[in-house]
Amino acid sequence: MNTLFYIIILILVLQFVIETVLDYLNAKRYGDPVPDELNDVFNAEEYEKSQAYKKTNYSFGLLTSTFSLLLTLGFLILGGFEWVDQIARSITDNPIVTALLFFGIIIIGSDIVTLPYSYYSTFVIEEKFGFNKTTRGTFFMDKLKGWGMMAVVGGGLLALIIWFFEWTGSNFWLYAWALVAVFTVIMNLFYSKLIVPLFNKLTPLEAGGLKTKIENYAENVGFELQNIFVIDGSKRSTKANAYFSGFGKEKRITLYDTLINDLEEEEIVAVLAHEVGHYKRKHIVFNLAASILLTGLTLFLLSFFINNPEVSLAIGVSQPSFHTALIGFGILYSPISEVTGLLMNHLSRKFEYQADDFAKNTYVASPLITSLKKLSKDSLSNLTPHPAYVFMHYSHPPLIARIRNLKKV
Ligand SMILES: [Zn+2]
Repeated sequence: MNTLFYIIILILVLQFVIETVLDYLNAKRYGDPVPDELNDVFNAEEYEKSQAYKKTNYSFGLLTSTFSLLLTLGFLILGGFEWVDQIARSITDNPIVTALLFFGIIIIGSDIVTLPYSYYSTFVIEEKFGFNKTTRGTFFMDKLKGWGMMAVVGGGLLALIIWFFEWTGSNFWLYAWALVAVFTVIMNLFYSKLIVPLFNKLTPLEAGGLKTKIENYAENVGFELQNIFVIDGSKRSTKANAYFSGFGKEKRITLYDTLINDLEEEEIVAVLAHEVGHYKRKHIVFNLAASILLTGLTLFLLSFFINNPEVSLAIGVSQPSFHTALIGFGILYSPISEVTGLLMNHLSRKFEYQADDFAKNTYVASPLITSLKKLSKDSLSNLTPHPAYVFMHYSHPPLIARIRNLKKV
């Protein structure tokens, strides 16, 4: 056991402690009085249900995160990685196939072990609070499709990256970066077109009042919009959403059918105005560039560690390799990715205000306020989050902060 082994344990335990403390601080505020501006989001009975939902999720989260930590530590300390590595090596000598087998066993294995969590969360908790619309058939089909997609996409990327490594040595990171960058851009452009239809049905928004209102608004702000799609989100959950993807000719807006059912037409246009704001203020391109740069940084740092046998040995294996060093590096790097994640969340919250301001200035604030209230009510979101929790985890400002910003003249 080397020093890195203890550092890895320390990182895993510290992350657990920080998350648990944050969850605890946040949960302590569930009983706080609701700010006056948000009095009309829930009635008393609904609010009680909403708080019960959060408390249930809090206790369940505490249970699953404790179990996950024990499982990870146990696997690490009892030589689980060595065991899986030996199985993979006994099947083939090829380093690429060994790596694919190694990750395949670990990812599918941990998915199976944690399957009871997601099953319980979907069919007991979400069900009890009336969110769940998923059937058991859809639930298991989603899992299988997810594994299939991961094997093709994740496996393909990993195979190419190891091939670059075998071919160019520590310069591999540059080739890997180019590959991931191209992949990220393609995914951003075509995710809605290629991947989403594997899981959901997409239909173009039909002509009518809503479509006309959206087109009028888009024309007003000089926004060319040809692709407006409706997704059958109601197949899985009652929670509503809308999002924007792609850029240039490929840009498209996807509305959940649940959103169309729950909101007035004016409110939907206001939500879209917010999304158009993200586009116009260049948030989409910025996020894409930031994620490509961060990937470059990660791969660059990886290139310093990948040839160091200590990083492999730190996870308890006997033979250093690319794939075992990747796991060791992944854990050692996680404090850095926590920090970059914090920065990205901070920026994202800023962008939300900018998009809200865009909607306020080019459309009107009031339907956006009422739609945000409805959406928060539908998802039983937290009206009184702890500031530390918001700082660490929220990609969007809390509802009260957004409404105060929208009401500002
Ligand atoms: Zn937004």
